[in-house]
Amino acid sequence: MKKVSLRPGKERSLLKRHPWVFESSIARGGGDSGETVRVESADGQFLAWAAFSPKSLIRLRAWSFDEAERIDAGFFQRRIEQAIAMRARLAIASDAWRLIHGEADGLPGLVVDRYGDTLVAQFGSAGAERWKTVIADALLAATGLTRLYERSDAQAREWEGLPVHTGWLRGDGATALTIREHEWQLTLDVAEGHKTGYYLDQRDSRSRFADAVKQYGVKTVLNCFSYTGGFSVAALAGGATQVVSVDSSGPALERAKAHVALNGFAANRHEAWDADVNATLRRCLQEGRRFDAIVLDPPKFAPTAAHAERAARAYKDINRLAFMLLNDGGLLYTFSCSGGISPDLFHKIVAGAGLDAGVDGYIVERLSAAADHPQTVCFPEGDYLKGLGILKR
Ligand code: SAH
Repeated sequence: MKKVSLRPGKERSLLKRHPWVFESSIARGGGDSGETVRVESADGQFLAWAAFSPKSLIRLRAWSFDEAERIDAGFFQRRIEQAIAMRARLAIASDAWRLIHGEADGLPGLVVDRYGDTLVAQFGSAGAERWKTVIADALLAATGLTRLYERSDAQAREWEGLPVHTGWLRGDGATALTIREHEWQLTLDVAEGHKTGYYLDQRDSRSRFADAVKQYGVKTVLNCFSYTGGFSVAALAGGATQVVSVDSSGPALERAKAHVALNGFAANRHEAWDADVNATLRRCLQEGRRFDAIVLDPPKFAPTAAHAERAARAYKDINRLAFMLLNDGGLLYTFSCSGGISPDLFHKIVAGAGLDAGVDGYIVERLSAAADHPQTVCFPEGDYLKGLGILKR
């Protein structure tokens, strides 16, 4: 077994069961891409079994902090079964959910979503890549399913020095699927959609939004960064009479339109604008358009903490414009999925946006990723998705 020794003092984060070790913390040792190594402190104390990522700034990702544990097929089987058991205890209002959420499930770099009878996996670290066959077999054995599609095309692959790979790993057939979320039918394509096909993490926020639309009697909605219109369907279900979906992806908007019809809502209650959100917000302001509710669910502006400052300005700008476009008593549902922006910082950014817009509001909701995207105590980076529901005063 190869060994990696850390610099003095650099053992602290592993001792706190945080699974990452950065390149700068390593004194000596290494391994092949994804190889399991024994990690030791400067004075030779065992810290973790970890996967070695020779190309990544995150050089080690811990599989286990238990010296007696062996990283083998049985290990992956146990972790996968544990993750599945955790989801079985949640009341998930869908037949699609996140089965494995990387670090939070003790499987750094591995993401697996389940859409009905189809699994979709992202192998986002050298360690996950190395154990791909074992993981694929364990996933099918633990779920009893036969179809597993690989979507290893996320940015993290590049940072790990791994090539993009997509396609069926197990089974085959149609990649176009229909799922149920709350009372709604939604479609996706696991080969072509964003991430693994759909943004499952916003499931709970979509139903909270539907409830709020109903409760506050919202009629007009601007759904910014709509993707395939999840929040638009929610708005229509809540009783909104006019909903606009804005996104820069034409195919996503085509699907949003199809979702309106699929869920039995009249086509004339929905418009799809293929446009840049920033430009759209400014145009609406110029034209004097106002809305009863606005959703802002932008892509990750800050992939890491290093991008936080620029991202903060971008978040502030769209939130400021949204505040100005809201009718009095209107609702803003605003999100950030940037790991580099803490919930606290996000709140401050939104407060600054309100101040600039001359608008105050009541915080009526604090939102985060649905519980099948768990956060763990030892891994604060897992708190990536945060949102506020604000009622304009
Ligand atoms: N709210 C969606 C998920 C949004 S993901 C849901 O509930 O499913 C972010 C979306 O923003 C993507 O669909 C992407 O195409 C879109 N996007 C990214 N930059 C954009 C821009 N500048 N203007 C408009 N849309 C943009």
